[in-house]
Order: sequence, then C-alpha cells, then structure tokens
Amino acid sequence: MAKIKSVKFKLNEFQYFRPFHITNSVSYGSQNIEVAIELENGVVGYGEASPSFRVNGEKVAAVIGLEGTVNEMIVGMDVRNYRQILDVTDKLFAAPSIKAAVQYGVLDAFSEEIGVPVYQILGGAKTKIETDQTMSIGTLEERINEARSIVEKGHNVIKIKVGENLQEDIQALIAISQITRGCKYIVDANMGYTPKQAVKFVTEIYRAGVDISVFEQPVGMHDIDGLKYVRWNSPFPIAADESAKSKYDVMKLIKEEAVDYINIKLMKSGISDALAIVEMVKAANLKLMIGCMAESSLGINQSVHFALGTGAFDFHDLDSPLMLKEGTFRGKYKVDVPYYYV
Ligand code: MN
Repeated sequence: MAKIKSVKFKLNEFQYFRPFHITNSVSYGSQNIEVAIELENGVVGYGEASPSFRVNGEKVAAVIGLEGTVNEMIVGMDVRNYRQILDVTDKLFAAPSIKAAVQYGVLDAFSEEIGVPVYQILGGAKTKIETDQTMSIGTLEERINEARSIVEKGHNVIKIKVGENLQEDIQALIAISQITRGCKYIVDANMGYTPKQAVKFVTEIYRAGVDISVFEQPVGMHDIDGLKYVRWNSPFPIAADESAKSKYDVMKLIKEEAVDYINIKLMKSGISDALAIVEMVKAANLKLMIGCMAESSLGINQSVHFALGTGAFDFHDLDSPLMLKEGTFRGKYKVDVPYYYV
C-alpha cells in the first residue's frame, strides 16, 4: 500500500538570463508551482506546473487555488494503482499545468516507492536525448550573435522564433543558416502569420536553399483550415503546438490531415493525454516533438523522463532550464549539453 497522505503546492519564481521574445510576447521570468505528493509512509514525489496564460488561459493566482480540490480528489488513493489517479485527475483539464504536475508527482512518488525511475515505469525506450536551444526574435545582429553562441555551446538543433515581421524573418533565417552549417532548424511562428504569409515564408526559404526540419504553428490556434492550407503548400513539415492541447484537439488535427507533427507539452496535456497522443499520432503515421513552457529543472525532469520512457520524439525542445537562473539543479537526469541522459 502506498496511499497519498497530502498534496502541497508551493510557488517558486525564476528569472531568465535574458528576456525571451516570441510573437507578441516578451517574458522576463516565470512563476511555477511545485507540487509535493506525500505518501502515508513518508515517501514524497515531486512535480512542477509552469502555467501559461498565452497558451492555456491559466493564471497562477487561479490555479494555485486548486490545492484543496486536488487533496479532495486524490488523498487516500494508492500510487501503485496510478492509472486510477490519472483518470480522476483528467478532470483538471481547465488547469492543465496543475494536472501535469500532480500526475507526474504521483509517478515520481510511485518511482521512489518501488525504486524504479519514472522513465522505466513509462517503458524505458531510451536513456539519452538531445535538446535544441531556442533563439528569441530580435534584430538581425542580435539573432546572428545568438545563433553563433548556441552553436558554440555545442547544440546541433536550433529553434528559431519568427512571426512578427515576415521580411526580417526570411532575411534572418538565411543569414543564420550561413553561419550554422550542419545544424537542423525548428522554426516557430507562434501563430504570428496568416496562412498566405506562412506559405510565402516557406517558399522563399526553400528557394534560398535552406532546409527546415519542422515549421511550428504558423497560424492561429483555432485556424485548422489555415494549418492545413500551409501543410499542403509547404515543402517542409508543419507542426501544431498551440492548436494541439488535449487528445481531442489532436484527434481533430489527424482527421483534418492538418499537420505532419504534433508538439506535445506536458503543460498542455498532462501525463494522461500525452500518453494518448503518443499512440494516436503513431497510429496516424505522423511525427512527434516534445516542447516546454518555462519549467525549471524540476519541471523539465517530467518531460525528460516522459521522452526517455516513450522514446517517441524526433525532436526535444526542452531547453527552459538552460535559459532560467536556478539555485539548485533538481532534475533526476544528467546534463551534458546538448544531451540529457540517465
Ligand atoms: Mn511552439
């Protein structure tokens, strides 16, 4: 028996080393909620929520108020029967980052209880993954300098934020490709383009001889027809991020043949929907990447173990702890940039 005794929430604040600029948003740091799941035998499991108002409509002040509700939902349940707890906590769909942290905290407590790491509870498919590093939107000079420093740190996959100015983005991408030969590029517009702008962007990039591995969320989150239009007019694979939160979103994207890739983030889906999405996307013969919000090492630990356990992802965009100032590293994984491993 490994019954849950209590669930505690704690607010932690982190600052970015440098302001993080994406389409219509500049972020200086993050307020994350640490979730501790204590069992009756004293074992504690940890999770972390990184709420996103932009993507999920979550405000910290609102979701931190769910501590009592979560206690009512799962105190007394046995983490050895964790599927039962995942099913109960599926009801937290309006606070998906909390759902993720609670569900992972349960897995972490189970892992501590039986002495088996979470990535092995989830399948143990891999022991090592490679993360990309993300570049903010900026002036051409800032973008070139950032690209250069990312390559110098040892990264082979660069995530390039675009979406505020089509001509500057095209110019920047071509310039970055010239000084980062051999790297792969994930380009993310964070909903910043119209469908026609997005097609113009990929057409010009293609003509310039630059290859993009994944083009993420070119258009608005509810514009499924727009995503589909871009997909069928783009030489590069198109990914849904903001459009793909729950397994029901993904089912619709698959039915509509709207994208090539799904970007799973635990902060959008929790563990339960993320597990479902992995199998749905595989069955549909599409591809997967995994991303993050502004998790610290405690929170990215969740995605590292999920990615290692399922082994389902072509690309891992799990760089937030590399961008946040953090006193103590709290991941149950090791770092050798650009690799995370166990
Ligand atoms: Mn994205």
